[in-house]
Amino acid sequence: MARVTPAFLDALDGDFDATACMSCGLCTASCPMDVAILPRALFRHAMLGLEDEVMAETDAIYQCLLCRLCEVGCPAGVPIAENVRLLRRHISSTVYRLGI
Ligand code: SF4
Ligand code: SF4
Repeated sequence: MARVTPAFLDALDGDFDATACMSCGLCTASCPMDVAILPRALFRHAMLGLEDEVMAETDAIYQCLLCRLCEVGCPAGVPIAENVRLLRRHISSTVYRLGI
């Protein structure tokens, strides 16, 4: 059963934003790494505070090149690469205990 961690979004500093995503799939189609899970599943989990589900996809989070090709065609202007960067910062501080 999914466990909600209310403090998870706070830990992302409030800058994480995927509320406008309409799950159109255009970002997936343009991603050179085929990181299909990012905006349509993983970001949604992050917004719901489902930290365990997000942390289970650490590989996908680090697979992203931060190239922003996906953002070019995003009709909702979702800051995909910045969201990924914020998730990496959270992983670095909670898993690897790095103060960045
Ligand atoms: S292209 Fe933008 S609106 Fe469409 S699924 Fe990706 S992040 Fe969401
Ligand atoms: S920023 Fe990441 S998710 Fe977006 S196209 Fe590049 S590799 Fe794919």
